[in-house]
Amino acid sequence: MRSRLVAALLLGAAIVTLGPLGCKQASNQEAAVASTQGTGLGINKAWMDTSAKPGDDWYEYTDGTWLKNTEVPADRSRVSAFWMAGEKTDAQLASLMSDIEKSSPTAGSNEARVKLFYEAYLNTQAIDAAGMAPIQADLVRFDAIGNKQQLASVLGSQIRADVDPLNNTNFQTENLFGVFVTQALKGGQVVPYILQGGLGMPEREYYLSSDPKMAQLRTAYRQYIEDLLTAAGIGDATTKAQKVYDLEMKIAKAHNTREDSENWKKASGLWSRQDFATKAPGLDWTAFFNAAQLGGVKTFEAYHPDAIVRLSALVASEPLDVWKDWLVFHQINTSADVLPSKLDSLHFAFYGTKLTGAEQQRPRAKRAIGAVNASLGDALGKLYTDKYFPASSKARIQQMVANIKAAFVKRIDAIEWMAPSTKAEAKKKVENMVVGVGYPDTWRDYSGRQVDPKNAYANLQAANLYNYKQQLAKIGKPMDRHEWWMNAQLVNAVNLPVQNALNFPAAIMQPPFFDPSADDAFNYGAIGTVIGHEISHSFDNNGAEFDATGAMRNWWTDADRKKFEQAATALANQFDQYEPFPGLHVNGKLTLSENIADVAGLAAAHDAYLASLDGKEAPTIDGFSGDQRFYIAFGQVWTEKAREAAERKQIATDGHAPGQYRALTVRNQDPWYKAFDVQPGQKLYLAPGKRVKVW
Ligand SMILES: [Zn+2]
Repeated sequence: MRSRLVAALLLGAAIVTLGPLGCKQASNQEAAVASTQGTGLGINKAWMDTSAKPGDDWYEYTDGTWLKNTEVPADRSRVSAFWMAGEKTDAQLASLMSDIEKSSPTAGSNEARVKLFYEAYLNTQAIDAAGMAPIQADLVRFDAIGNKQQLASVLGSQIRADVDPLNNTNFQTENLFGVFVTQALKGGQVVPYILQGGLGMPEREYYLSSDPKMAQLRTAYRQYIEDLLTAAGIGDATTKAQKVYDLEMKIAKAHNTREDSENWKKASGLWSRQDFATKAPGLDWTAFFNAAQLGGVKTFEAYHPDAIVRLSALVASEPLDVWKDWLVFHQINTSADVLPSKLDSLHFAFYGTKLTGAEQQRPRAKRAIGAVNASLGDALGKLYTDKYFPASSKARIQQMVANIKAAFVKRIDAIEWMAPSTKAEAKKKVENMVVGVGYPDTWRDYSGRQVDPKNAYANLQAANLYNYKQQLAKIGKPMDRHEWWMNAQLVNAVNLPVQNALNFPAAIMQPPFFDPSADDAFNYGAIGTVIGHEISHSFDNNGAEFDATGAMRNWWTDADRKKFEQAATALANQFDQYEPFPGLHVNGKLTLSENIADVAGLAAAHDAYLASLDGKEAPTIDGFSGDQRFYIAFGQVWTEKAREAAERKQIATDGHAPGQYRALTVRNQDPWYKAFDVQPGQKLYLAPGKRVKVW
């Protein structure tokens, strides 16, 4: 299982929807998140149950009191350390936005753009009063399509840089194709990647699966198309909805599977401009590319080559009017949040409630911040980091990153089984890795961006077009390995295989992951192990598909891969033993690559911590030695409480083991035994030969 996201590492999708915003004060949040912040201790003593024996019940020892006292809120299925940092960031952003709201920023400044965009989005009264007027010009544009060449041109004009198969792994676009711009998979030039698109539901399985729940969703989706068109005042909605739905069934059949999408090797294939016409006849590619502002591009990465062929053929075979109705529906559907509230509510009833089970729409203010993040991410990110991420924190984490990288290199050198050629490649990859800390070196320039205080729809369209043009400007230039793919104000982190780079946004650099007032023992045990985890993903069996320059090339020898897999099997067996519910075990194989990253990340972070002491004895603080604080910090990063149904679902389907078992990674670390005097006979004791060392 591929995993480049720390969000995914911490059980991803859940963090996208965080708790309520708005009224909470940042100071209360801080108090709730880290009661000991500021004391220099870093770890939360109040979370611990020191009556538990670390060698028998480690998680109870580090988190027992928190677990006893914490209730999962009614609107959530789990709470975790990650969620806490997310709540805090939400409160910070709300406070920042409130300051901007009260201010009178200079016209044309980023503050002004953020303010106007936010206010226009928030003003549902104005949005309702405007009705369908803002979108009218687009609907007229679709209505005027008179032949297939004009259709190709409009399809091209809709294309945006809205997918990402490598970094954030987002394969969904409602446009017929999606674009992603970076270095070609096999290296060399920066090219546009062309991905399949055109579906309103998340992926082809929703259309083609025989699962009864999927069949129900299809019925609901067809009805939703009709309801949305009706609410938008489009005539003959019943007939049109059926035709749009039927067309999407054909598009779904033309799509590659999700599994294929995630297989980079299947994707690799450079096409020239001419290849599209000869290999994928049907669509008027010249008209299409010209309208997509890609007319001058000579080389493309055809990410879904088979699907491109089939989708192009569909443009020729399906009636013009159906394509026009399909365009109308998707233009409304993708803009529903900035169209009259009856459309927005219909959209949520399908996408929120039917598709994900959410019962209540998030507050508009929170959604407005989300829209600013999506449309003016760096403008808000700059303001956020100016206020909440001091240069001293950045410098300190950069130093930690350098030390952890150095520790990795040393560990690679020390591996007995690895061939020298593989070692050399692995070391080169770590040494050349670009690690972005907090925020990008260069913020995106929004100086050309107009924001209309009265037209939220126009603002959204302008943002998408502006971002698309910024991505297109990269084509033909050398790859910028320092480009960021995540907002600074997001509690997350990401591994960028083609750039051989990592992004660690500022928002994750806070308790319980990072505490500037705490010493290195805490910070290496917390954020340090997260950094180590992400670095190790760059050269495990998935990361090994890309070399130090970001080109897709396998640099492992077969013998090395075999030995790596042997060490991995031991770790899989270790996790197979864990039994959260009677008869239900953690799946060691399913969670393997994440557990490997935990073992490797913890070991490298500890090495780096020791190196940071520079031969000196670590201070004892509040009765805890340096090593003790290091490991307790790690245990508290995995603080988590989930409802039983959520936990069972995670165990069955997720590549990440539940937090309480990830915390037990310490069993594989010799210094942990010494730090807590863990002896043979204790429940968590592993004989030295059974402790897994992957790197
Ligand atoms: Zn991971």
